[in-house]
Amino acid sequence: MSLKGKTALVTGSTSGIGLGMAKGLAEAGADVALNSHENPADIEPIRKKLADETGRKVIFLQADMSNADAIAAMCKRAETELGKVDIVVNNAGIQHVAPVHEFPLDKWNLIIAINLNSAFHTSRALLPGMKARKWGRIINLASAHGLIGSPFKSAYVAAKHGMVGLTKVTALEVAEEGITCNAICPGYVLTPLVEKQIADQAKVHNLPPGRVIKEVMLKGQPTRKFVGTDEIAGLAVFLCTDAAQSITGTALPIDGGWVAQ
Ligand code: NAD
Repeated sequence: MSLKGKTALVTGSTSGIGLGMAKGLAEAGADVALNSHENPADIEPIRKKLADETGRKVIFLQADMSNADAIAAMCKRAETELGKVDIVVNNAGIQHVAPVHEFPLDKWNLIIAINLNSAFHTSRALLPGMKARKWGRIINLASAHGLIGSPFKSAYVAAKHGMVGLTKVTALEVAEEGITCNAICPGYVLTPLVEKQIADQAKVHNLPPGRVIKEVMLKGQPTRKFVGTDEIAGLAVFLCTDAAQSITGTALPIDGGWVAQ
């Protein structure tokens, strides 16, 4: 599955699932732009390692995915520095858990901005280039929580359901132009985002942290195993191949059977 000659921008790709997908795309032959809001000097070792290991061009574009102007500027830089953007993976995401009536307003707004609005901003910036070239792939990182709800995650579940809706509409609008748009819906993947949740979940469920993994997180995941970041990367790479050209507008669970129940 060669993506030689293709270029990809992956938002929120300095750790976890985003970094895994950036690695998968680069290993498949694509040149890659990494992104996060972090300081470029701190990300340089990650960027260099990925470039050295894959032999691909790997750049880092600092931009805060909660800021529409920063996202527009990042997309322009990606098109300039990579020459074009064929693949955009809207992966940046954060989490906060609290009951609806106690959910902090600033957290609600930030989660909707990063987890949902940023995908709209990158898509509107990068679709014209994809349409002109008659080839494109938009991959939106939703979640099993784009298909079902869980208590205490109102903003996250709302954003991820919104991501699935945005995916369907985008796919329909560009269906005849060689561009696909799909949502990937992972179950629990052990990344820094999930590690941070263990303490919060312990508080709201009144359980010791050690029991949260088994009794809350993996309780609904029939395989009782975390999904691997490499598995999600494999699906993202497949969606970029010609074999996947008719897969569009979907929300694909990769969740150990979670939403089958
Ligand atoms: P993570 O915390 O490991 O990584 C998040 C990435 O986003 C990091 O690179 C971080 O620097 C970046 N980021 C955070 N705020 C940002 C901002 N304001 N601007 C730019 N970048 C920012 O998280 P992860 O678990 O790898 O999650 C990645 C995506 O996958 C998210 O959209 C998440 O909702 C989704 N997801 C994760 C899981 C899971 O179990 N881990 C399950 C389903 C869906």
